Parts: sequence; C-alpha cells; structure tokens
Amino acid sequence: MRFMTQRMPALFLGHGSPMNAIIDSPERRGWVTLGQALPRPKAILVVSAHWENQGSIHLTTGDFPRTIHDFSGFHPDLYKVLYPAPGAPDLVERVAQLLGEAQVRRDDSWGFDHGSWGVLHPMLPKADVPMIQLGLNRSLSPQQHLAVAAALAPLREEGVLIVSSGNVVHNLPEYFKTMGSKPDWAVEFQDRITAAVMADDHTALTEFAPDDRAAALAINSAEHYLPLLYTVGARLPGDEVGVFNHGIDGAMSMTSYLIGDTGLLKTLH
Ligand code: ZN
Repeated sequence: MRFMTQRMPALFLGHGSPMNAIIDSPERRGWVTLGQALPRPKAILVVSAHWENQGSIHLTTGDFPRTIHDFSGFHPDLYKVLYPAPGAPDLVERVAQLLGEAQVRRDDSWGFDHGSWGVLHPMLPKADVPMIQLGLNRSLSPQQHLAVAAALAPLREEGVLIVSSGNVVHNLPEYFKTMGSKPDWAVEFQDRITAAVMADDHTALTEFAPDDRAAALAINSAEHYLPLLYTVGARLPGDEVGVFNHGIDGAMSMTSYLIGDTGLLKTLH
C-alpha cells in the first residue's frame, strides 16, 4: 500500500508592522483562523523578507534556532515574544538535495526573524512544528527565484508547509506620508499582482517597464515582494488560488494568498 501524504498549501502572508504579532487586527485574526484550519505540517519552510544574502541560498541550521527581534523602537512586550520551534535538520538536507549543494549554505548565525515568527506565533502558537528559514539570495534574478521555488514544490507533497512572508506593496518612506489613505498606484499595483497570481502569469510578476510608476513605488526595495515568488513558483497541477487579508493602508498592503486547497480559507470569509 502506498503511503499518501496530504499536499500542503503554499502561503504568502502580508506581515506589515511587527506589532501585528501581538495586537488584535483583522490580519492577525486571519492568521489565527487559518492556523486552526491547516492540516498539521511535518515541517515548515519560511522565506522571510528580513533575511537577505548574496551569492547563495542560506538555510538556518541547529536544533533550536533563536528568536531574532530584528527591529527597534517597538513596544517592550514585542521583545518578550519567543518562538521556540525546533529546527529541522532533515529538511535542511532535503532542500540541499533538491537545490544542489553548490547553491546552498548552511548558516547557524541566523534564527527566526520577525518575518517568520511574527506570523507563525499567531498562526501556530504552540511552536511545536520543526521549522527552517530559507534566505533570499539577492544575487538571483526574479526568474531564478521562481525556479528555486519550483524545485522546492515537491516538499509540499512531503508534508512541508511553505510560508513566504513579506508585503506586495511595501515602501516605508512613502508609508509615513500616505498612511490612512489608499494611494491610486498602490491599489492598481496590488490588483494587478493579484490578477497575475490568479493567472499564474510569471511575466507580469517579474517584468516591470522602466516607466511603471506603480511598480517602482510598490517594490522600491523588493525584499518584501520577492517572497511572493516562492509561493507562486511552488504551484503544482490542480492547485487553486485563494486571496485573503486583502487590505491597503498607504504604501503597505496586507493582501495574502493561499495556493493549494482554498477550502482551508472558508472560515476566514
Ligand atoms: Zn517586514
């Protein structure tokens, strides 16, 4: 008899302010509800906007990676949050096998940054699922990020939950000028990207004209956008696409996607 593992979804979560980890917000409620609906993963692979490297794809190692409070000036309670999930050495080795040794680097200097624990703490508060982070190799092109994600997609059939954490629209200098409003360019860019994710249109997700003002403003530094490519690129035949936590506040959107079984989102709407 063949042992079947339930295919896990791939998630892209808009994370916004680190405070969303501990204060009530519609998005945090969405993470909590989704966490209760998810099948229990064997392990979690997180791609966070807050871990960037050059030249290779870094993977967190160690039995218990540390919780990193990689921000300043926030409420003291946020610094008390720990996410003591175990590491997943087996998953590190499986990722190295899928991507090839030449492309990866095992890295014991990092742990779980707020891009990962900020969403996992509300979503899976027990912190009892083994977890690793995979760093953004900023030497790669957008197309290469998509190719890495496609190589990782088989993990979903092996019980691994892929969580990418960033924001489709994320421009901090503009945010402080526009908070409380919905700039036309932010709405246009977010709607365009949602349509491209639904259509699996990789060109629309990776190629932006030099005079594309909305794209230039929305992804001025790109690190919060690139994690999206790890969710889109991990799409498998038969997957559906669900959109949730849709919302724009100034130059920040929280819109999130689930690729896989969209029935998992039915308690969110
Ligand atoms: Zn962030």
